[in-house]
Amino acid sequence: MITVRHLAKEYINNGEPFRVLRDVNCQINKGEVISIIGPSGTGKSTFLRCLNHLEEATAGQIEIDGVDILDRNTDVSLLRRKMGMVFQNFNLFNHLSILENVSVGPVRLLGVPKAQAQEQAMELLRMVGLAEKANAMPAELSGGQKQRVAIARCLSMKPDIILFDEPTSALDPTMVSEVLAVIRQLAKQGMTMAIVTHEMNFARDVSTRIFFMYDGVIYEEGSPSQIFDHPAKPETKAFIQRIRSLDFNIRNRDFDLYGMNSSLENFCQKYALPQSCLNRAQLLVEEMLHGILPFTGPIHISVEYSELDYTLNMTIIQENCTASIFDGPDVDDISSTLVRGYCTEIKEEQNGDNREIILKIKK
Ligand code: ADP
Repeated sequence: MITVRHLAKEYINNGEPFRVLRDVNCQINKGEVISIIGPSGTGKSTFLRCLNHLEEATAGQIEIDGVDILDRNTDVSLLRRKMGMVFQNFNLFNHLSILENVSVGPVRLLGVPKAQAQEQAMELLRMVGLAEKANAMPAELSGGQKQRVAIARCLSMKPDIILFDEPTSALDPTMVSEVLAVIRQLAKQGMTMAIVTHEMNFARDVSTRIFFMYDGVIYEEGSPSQIFDHPAKPETKAFIQRIRSLDFNIRNRDFDLYGMNSSLENFCQKYALPQSCLNRAQLLVEEMLHGILPFTGPIHISVEYSELDYTLNMTIIQENCTASIFDGPDVDDISSTLVRGYCTEIKEEQNGDNREIILKIKK
């Protein structure tokens, strides 16, 4: 239904070109529900706006039902009608009643007689649970209700696909579920949808596929279970598990342990980790560096805290090392016993010339 090839979008920020979308490639098939997730600023909204031609792409191709919408000869308004869009801030016509908001499009743009358009609008309002508000004005509605009207208005144009740009992010948390319920209902009815969202549980439930956007591309895509349970790339995993990390790169034995301890303290304070976690992390770093790691080359330590399951792990990469570290000849037994005591699990793996150790720290 939609094929995107090598889509790029550049903005000029303070006179400098700024490439938001670098090379986006994807296909969206009829009946699919695609959730687009990823950190802020990675171009998710820009991607939707390029699809809908609200933004002009800098390069690439967007084909809808075989027609290239970036071709100058294409009648974009016709294609745009195939694609409805629901915005963060509803964008209702504030001077029109709810019924008029949902019937004005078909009357003005599709030439549907007013009475018929209003009848269809009532049906759509019933579907989103707002028939009794038909004669109200937008200002009388809550955010959740306005967004449901915006969805009904979008449906009134009978689109082939609906693009949702963070449809719940401007809502009070108590109103999120009523909007998500309407979107779920549309998914059940087989509506094709692409949804930019931060609601991870919803994305997992409702989607046929997930696009994880990062660094201006679709960095990883897959079924909800692939992306949420078995992400292939570290960046995807870090996003899904809401991992906050602190990295140290140590070149030789003249490392600054005081400086590292103070960075660890700031990190634990920032994410409200208990004192016991800080103590364990500091002692682990010290024991690993003083008693266990062989310093065969640079050492990279990454302390990772998951805000999803509140676990604290430490990944250590010892460069130029092919032998087991914990079973190595120079390991200090006391350090080794202490490290084992602070962890629930210790894994050691060979990765090319480097030895990788993952320490799962006790809570
Ligand atoms: P996301 O939806 O992933 O949070 P956006 O697509 O909204 O990301 O924005 C990506 C980046 O592009 C941001 O850094 C934003 O500041 C920039 N950007 C978005 N729209 C414009 C614009 N009209 N002009 C200049 N920069 C923009």
